Amino acid sequence: MTAEEWGRGDRRRLSTRDFPAEVLALVNAKQGGRFCLLCQEQGLTPPEDQQLVVDHLQPLSKGGDNHWSNLRWLCASHNAARQARAGWSGPPAWVRRIGVSPPW
Ligand SMILES: [Zn+2]
Repeated sequence: MTAEEWGRGDRRRLSTRDFPAEVLALVNAKQGGRFCLLCQEQGLTPPEDQQLVVDHLQPLSKGGDNHWSNLRWLCASHNAARQARAGWSGPPAWVRRIGVSPPW
């Protein structure tokens, strides 16, 4: 199976490390790099130790799959907050932790 085909119709809940590197490279190419899209939207720079995770645009629970076209990078804080409250896109938890002044 090629990276372009991988994950189509696949609704298994995987860790980011379970995705083939070739698939993650397609996600990088699609969004223009490996960074948190919500941090970018909000003008934030995550700390160096902030882990990036694969997020599903359409959640697995709502019929989304593991195909690269349904994936994007989020920092772990944005991902956790989004899962806790669907549609949430506010500031990530590390904003409070490192004490930066948010631009909103
Ligand atoms: Zn983020």
